[in-house]
Amino acid sequence: MSTLKKEQILHGISVSPGCAIGNIFIYQRFVPSYKERILNDAEVISEKQKFEIAIKETEHELIDLKNEIHKEMGNELAELISFQITLLYDQDLYKSTIEFIEKRKRNAEFAYSEVLKRYIVPLNAAKTPFFRERLADITDVSSRVLSNILGVELPTTYEVAPGSLLIAYDLLPSEVALLDRNRVIGVAIEAGGKTSHTSIMTKAKEIPAVVGIENLLKKVTITTQNDQGADNTAILDGSRGVLIIEPSEKKLDFYKKEDGKIKDQKNYLFKLKETESTTKDGKHIDLSANIEFVAETLTALDNGARGVGLFRTEYLYLSRRRPVSEDEQEQIYSATAIKMKPYPVIIRTFDFGGDKIIPGYAEPNPFLGWRALRLCFDNPELFLNQIKAILRASVNGNLKIMLPMISTLDELHQAKAYIEQAKNELQTKNISFDNNIELGIMVETPSCALLADRFAKECNFFSIGSNDLTQYTLAVDRDNKRVAKLFNSLHPAVLKLINMTINAAHSNGIWVGLCGEFATDPIGIILLIGMGIDELSMVSSMIPLAKNIIQNVNYSFAQEISHQVLELATASDVTKLVNTKLETTYPKLAKFLHDIDSESYSSLKKPCNKHSYNVKTETA
Ligand code: PEP
Ligand code: MG
Repeated sequence: MSTLKKEQILHGISVSPGCAIGNIFIYQRFVPSYKERILNDAEVISEKQKFEIAIKETEHELIDLKNEIHKEMGNELAELISFQITLLYDQDLYKSTIEFIEKRKRNAEFAYSEVLKRYIVPLNAAKTPFFRERLADITDVSSRVLSNILGVELPTTYEVAPGSLLIAYDLLPSEVALLDRNRVIGVAIEAGGKTSHTSIMTKAKEIPAVVGIENLLKKVTITTQNDQGADNTAILDGSRGVLIIEPSEKKLDFYKKEDGKIKDQKNYLFKLKETESTTKDGKHIDLSANIEFVAETLTALDNGARGVGLFRTEYLYLSRRRPVSEDEQEQIYSATAIKMKPYPVIIRTFDFGGDKIIPGYAEPNPFLGWRALRLCFDNPELFLNQIKAILRASVNGNLKIMLPMISTLDELHQAKAYIEQAKNELQTKNISFDNNIELGIMVETPSCALLADRFAKECNFFSIGSNDLTQYTLAVDRDNKRVAKLFNSLHPAVLKLINMTINAAHSNGIWVGLCGEFATDPIGIILLIGMGIDELSMVSSMIPLAKNIIQNVNYSFAQEISHQVLELATASDVTKLVNTKLETTYPKLAKFLHDIDSESYSSLKKPCNKHSYNVKTETA
């Protein structure tokens, strides 16, 4: 146990859920040190060769790395490394280094580092996080090249002791990809944002992670230096976005119990995998998975998903930082369809903008700006290529197309015209596709929910995007920590729009699902069952819990309370009512849900606060 008792609670951005207790391992990247050397004429040739050999060696290392990642995590993540390989041979960087050696007669490591600065300086100054995040890739590649020129070994995360919490200023995507989950049980990072690939990869690897912790290294270094010989225990709570250094006994006890509880509950819930998601009185609700990468279909099936309810295709671009061709997309969609067969896969067309920015597409008020279809209509080739890829892949399984962020009927008509155009282009080339492929829309703007009755006549299904619907209804930025308290899908205004959408779908004979975070909220699940939702789609790991709730309630009970909540005025009244009814009608289920003490289930804790665990503000 630690000798320094001053507990420090550091807050950051939660990017990958789960909690981990372990010893701190501070990971510091290799910083190459080199001197400027003036070469004589004879040395110029050998120095150029040294550089060329180092590039080749780096290329081999990256190819090995790519194969390893491909084996473990699938093609999209391996593509991150392909991007780095192209960077290696970037004509400007490569040629300019050779020229620098030849003309300025300087040693290879100096020449390469000087040329690199031309790239790094503007990226560092870029206002758009996407560009700053690309720095990580350049740093990753260049430190490999420099270590090969200098003939030194790069430090690796393989040396980390099993059960460690990795603390770093930043981690490169390739470093995260290679993390061994037995050794590194949690990650805390000073830099980074939600869209960084480091964040995406920790989530895909299911390693709890918190990023964006201000002054993390300084605070951890001071603590660990003052605390020589101690074991430097810390708790990383990826769900709440906190790192607790030198935790008190009380917090350790709490988290140890929580960890044990989570594991027991996981085991219990996992046993439900093969069972049906049907209420006690026989109402069936389909449970599907939200995915970003093909590799996630495995976890989806493992958790009992009967389909993919939302494939967020923006990540195909975000993980490559380059346009994805129609052929590449066709392969990805086909692979997903085949893996999930006979279950359906709903491919959402690109929803760039908002928090999912790509180069050149960033803007000051992104959630109300050039987002999703608006952006696609201004880039017809981008949109048409994606539609053609989905259509071509449709012969390989049960694919459906879903349009995001619809706010007017005109947009739906315009999207349909593009789909017709894509079909015609394929027909002209004699390329087969499923001509009856279903077309659905995401209902995630108030205008769409209010006109759901009109939209339902023109598409095959709805999927409610509760994240955006809540944000736009309540005027609360879904990513802004300062207003996070106001973001509540249980607000009766949001519930009314959801209810309206479900009724409009059913009275027009189409099915309706919900694929926002609300699908993982126990109260949300009960209310949605009562409103008659047909499908819930969520992060795979939450499927067993949703199934457990569905199996333990009556549809008639859920119907009754879902009607009652529509008469209420506040989210806390809604929560109170559902909790009270649940505790009297299904005390066992209510207890089970209360015992799951995690931010993901927060709505159950809020009204009574009995089980809530308030993390105090930073003490440092
Ligand atoms: C939503 O808005 O609820 C949704 C599922 O879409 P995304 O989170 O990708 O915007
Ligand atoms: Mg959305």
